[in-house]
Amino acid sequence: MTSSPNLTFNDGNAIPQLGYGVWQVEDNVAEKVVRQAFEAGYRHIDTAKIYGNEAGVGRAIASSGLSREELFITTKLWNSDQGFDSTLKAFDESLDRLGLETLDLYLIHWLQPKQDKFVDTWKALIELQKQGKVKSIGVSNFTVEGLQRIIEETGVVPAINQIELHPFFNQAELRSFGAANGILTQAWSPLGQGGELLGDPAIAQIAAKHGATPAQVVIAWHLAIGNVVIPKSVTESRIQENFAALNVTLDEADIAAINDLDRGAEGRIGPNPAVSDFA
Ligand code: NAD
Repeated sequence: MTSSPNLTFNDGNAIPQLGYGVWQVEDNVAEKVVRQAFEAGYRHIDTAKIYGNEAGVGRAIASSGLSREELFITTKLWNSDQGFDSTLKAFDESLDRLGLETLDLYLIHWLQPKQDKFVDTWKALIELQKQGKVKSIGVSNFTVEGLQRIIEETGVVPAINQIELHPFFNQAELRSFGAANGILTQAWSPLGQGGELLGDPAIAQIAAKHGATPAQVVIAWHLAIGNVVIPKSVTESRIQENFAALNVTLDEADIAAINDLDRGAEGRIGPNPAVSDFA
């Protein structure tokens, strides 16, 4: 069976480049679809406390028959838990719900600049990694300024920054900052949430050329430009289709044409982390 390539973090650990995300998946559905993802070949699962499905993901892990070492599990600290002590507590609760003894990757879910607790929160993640409870630590929805601040104040560079990223919003600045500083970039809503992007004529043309689907072309673009990518679907055939994007190899002209679809800030679907405040 095809397996995802790994990318190596600045801490020496590795992450499967193609994973499976479970935002907006009910807890009782999560168990079934994560099992289907394992059967399709995924070994990397992306969840979060706020998704309310860590327990369902945990049940899928427990019943998978796969060894813990084969799996890469990420969860995220929710905004209301930011702060040093509250982060340590929230981490233990997430681990319990997942039924795991150690986590592969823990992320601060949002920067929350107004709340301004992200440096203390980052110090708690550093502590959790020191204690061996989590192998790698990173952030999500961080700006260049946010990344610079945690690095300057702690000396610890996050392994990864998980951000909104798809061909309509390709985040060139954050990707190049990451590349220059040893921070991998992970794409959320990599398919643009399945809307207009998958019907784009340029994507359709490249898909026809390769005998692939639009979703596979978009995932192949993420893989080609070095992103970690976590497409979501609750339809088994699409879960398999998305994994099979590993077999699609784009050429330079395809990649350039997809790079040209960027719409800058107008391409953004979700909240802008520089100003968003969920409190
Ligand atoms: P996505 O871009 O992965 O799109 C998912 C949607 O695309 C599906 O619901 C379906 O409608 C469609 N789709 C999927 N496969 C398809 C296919 N083969 N053909 C046609 N349509 C298809 O969107 P997402 O769920 O927002 O993002 C993926 C993951 O990223 C999430 O599940 C979550 O794990 C993560 N995420 C993280 C954050 C964050 O703040 N860190 C925010 C959003 C999402």
